[in-house]
Amino acid sequence: MKRILVTGGAGFLGSHLCSRLLERGNFVTCLDNYFTGSVDNIARLRGNQNFAVIEQSVIDPVDVKFDEIFNLACPASPVHYQTDPIYTFKTSIVGTLNLLELASKTGAKILQASTSEIYGDPLIHPQTEAYWGNVNTMGVRSCYDEGKRGAETLMHDYHRTRGVNIRVMRIFNTFGPGMNQSDGRVVSNFIVQALKGQDITIFGDGNQTRSFCYRDDLIEGMMRLMDAPNEVNYPVNIGNPGEFTMRELAEIVLELTGSKSKMVFMPLPQDDPMQRCPDISRAREILGWEPKIPLREGLERTIEYFKSVI
Ligand code: NAD
Ligand code: UDP
Repeated sequence: MKRILVTGGAGFLGSHLCSRLLERGNFVTCLDNYFTGSVDNIARLRGNQNFAVIEQSVIDPVDVKFDEIFNLACPASPVHYQTDPIYTFKTSIVGTLNLLELASKTGAKILQASTSEIYGDPLIHPQTEAYWGNVNTMGVRSCYDEGKRGAETLMHDYHRTRGVNIRVMRIFNTFGPGMNQSDGRVVSNFIVQALKGQDITIFGDGNQTRSFCYRDDLIEGMMRLMDAPNEVNYPVNIGNPGEFTMRELAEIVLELTGSKSKMVFMPLPQDDPMQRCPDISRAREILGWEPKIPLREGLERTIEYFKSVI
């Protein structure tokens, strides 16, 4: 039985990861300060004798021995990570530093939940891991983008100088059941708006693109990356290469929900990336991984979930 730490384990992805790791017979500890996550997300796991919870911030040092650490702690929705940008930056940088210190001291293997946001507003398309990115250091998204870039740097420096066993996963937009109604990201916004008969808020002209990965596919890729051979200490993109404009996404959500909501167009937020699509050749080759759930099917499941909670 492996002892596994999941930071951000009470969030959307983290809580699902905890479930999957418990199903595999591990002892799982969720560490979370409930900044965007919640006790409700892990309520179903509380009765499991192989599940423990530490209520604290990763900004404070952690001193418990684990075999593996999945570092997911960080607000991920632009609305939330921009409410306190200094906190967001500290969570990424100081949090990752604390966990790397722990990994260095105890010999734990550590996976960092990095992001496609490290590519910024990309100038090459689709994005391969070799691309260095195009990020504004001064913009409203920088606290998240640069925080995650700095966290990647720390991972590689601890690997080079202290021999820490690292995995770096660049996650592209992921959605699914378990997202918070007030998460603020586009998929949950459009579905909740459609189900409530509210206007669908499209930012900009809706021609910007994103590539959406279903939660279960993403978590499968994350666990495969952690289990990959130790030589896989370089970044790996995990996402679904199916690319859609926000207008197309809105149209599909309206069709699948049968909603009569209208689309309204609002200003595009600063530095909003115009296109994003993962090149997943590396994940295919090294992990034998590729997504299985197409956007429509994932949306149908997510719509059913939101119908049950709103
Ligand atoms: P989420 O907001 O639902 O989960 C983040 C979790 O981290 C929450 O439970 C929150 O309370 C916790 N947290 C925040 N600050 C913390 C701190 N200082 N100490 C301890 N816990 C803290 O978001 P998510 O979508 O589940 O994202 C999980 C991780 O995956 C994040 O690191 C995010 O950057 C990364 N990621 C997600 C996506 C996506 O599309 N979902 C894309 C790229 C990267
Ligand atoms: N977006 C939108 N309406 C919303 C929320 C977001 O049109 O209600 C757009 C946003 O401007 C961006 C895309 O959808 O172009 C994805 O936004 P999200 O916040 O989900 O993720 P990120 O921008 O971090 O990829």
